[in-house]
Amino acid sequence: MTLKGLGGYTRTDREKKLIIERLTKRPDFQYKMHAKYQLMDAPAADFDLEEPVLKDEVNELICDYDVTPLTKFCPECGRKYPEGENFCLDCAEKLREIKSVDISSIDLNPTFDFTANNQYNNFSDILTAENLEKLTVENFDVNKIVLNIKRTAFKRLDAAVKDNGIYLDSLSIVEKIMLFTKAFVDVEYKSYGAELGYYRFNRIYVDDRQLDALQITTMLHELAHFLIKEIITHVLCTIWECSKTTEIESVATFILSYSPVTALVDEYAAHTVEGRFTLYGFQDYSSFLNIEKSVELEKSEIEMLKTIGNTFANIIKKILESFIDAEMLSEIKDQFRRDILDQPDYRNLIHENCTLLNRKGMVEAIRLLLVEGFVVSMDNAEKLESYNEMW
Ligand SMILES: [Zn+2]
Ligand SMILES: [Zn+2]
Repeated sequence: MTLKGLGGYTRTDREKKLIIERLTKRPDFQYKMHAKYQLMDAPAADFDLEEPVLKDEVNELICDYDVTPLTKFCPECGRKYPEGENFCLDCAEKLREIKSVDISSIDLNPTFDFTANNQYNNFSDILTAENLEKLTVENFDVNKIVLNIKRTAFKRLDAAVKDNGIYLDSLSIVEKIMLFTKAFVDVEYKSYGAELGYYRFNRIYVDDRQLDALQITTMLHELAHFLIKEIITHVLCTIWECSKTTEIESVATFILSYSPVTALVDEYAAHTVEGRFTLYGFQDYSSFLNIEKSVELEKSEIEMLKTIGNTFANIIKKILESFIDAEMLSEIKDQFRRDILDQPDYRNLIHENCTLLNRKGMVEAIRLLLVEGFVVSMDNAEKLESYNEMW
């Protein structure tokens, strides 16, 4: 299979195409610009040009009389209760205090196991002609892999909410996104460096000096990087029928980063995930544009790499939207309204790819990346060793 050969397996990403068309047809796309802060997934009718109004005043009026404070909640149904109550009327469940929980200090120990017959603990056993051959012929089911990862993370998230007595509605939107992200991968605050954040070896670093809105986009972007690494790791384990070890994770990491070709797929996917859960018009396109410049391929082949990235993003989107519902999307939108004073800039939307691979096409695309990357990794055992020290 070649990049061009994958062309037979594509279809239009209609949902994304509609969003992009709607945004680029807006008058402010050409003229710059009346409207503020439109959420990319908001329905057309939501594109009002008015300022966000009077919410605080309304709240003040509503709160202007005595109410019994609700200080407890039912861990089963989430209903709130006043201090004097002890059991939920609906669930007969014992009520818990609503207390503030420091989400950044909670550790969820996120791991995703894969167990099989073979166990590889050194690279000379992995980097074999036999394993290369398997990559070219063995099949794998991406959906099944993704479903397993999602199921494990959601179970972990539920347990963390229960164990820590977290009342989800009391969390800010950035805390909710952080808690969700922590069900997949460790998240740490950093207070140094110029980057908003980055992902490396199963850990996301987020700059706590940044605005909440940017912490949210950063976490979702870096979570996408983690998920692609995890998916590729599980694909390798499936093909080689081996348990997941740090050696396999090192091979996956190498394949995703050794050349601008795979880096472009990885980066475009993360960029797209970020866009679909936050805001168009505020995205940072530099993450993949710099890489795109360094890829020495025909334009149609570069587009195919972005199509692969867009398809990865679509897979990841299905994991994220089970948690980030319409209400949370609008909370993210509100956070942007509060934090970001720049105007949205839609000019970079011309760089967006609106094509998806079908299931068979995606399997062949991943196979292509794996085979090419694995051949190179066979000559780079030292690099793999150095990665393996990092987990
Ligand atoms: Zn209840
Ligand atoms: Zn990135």
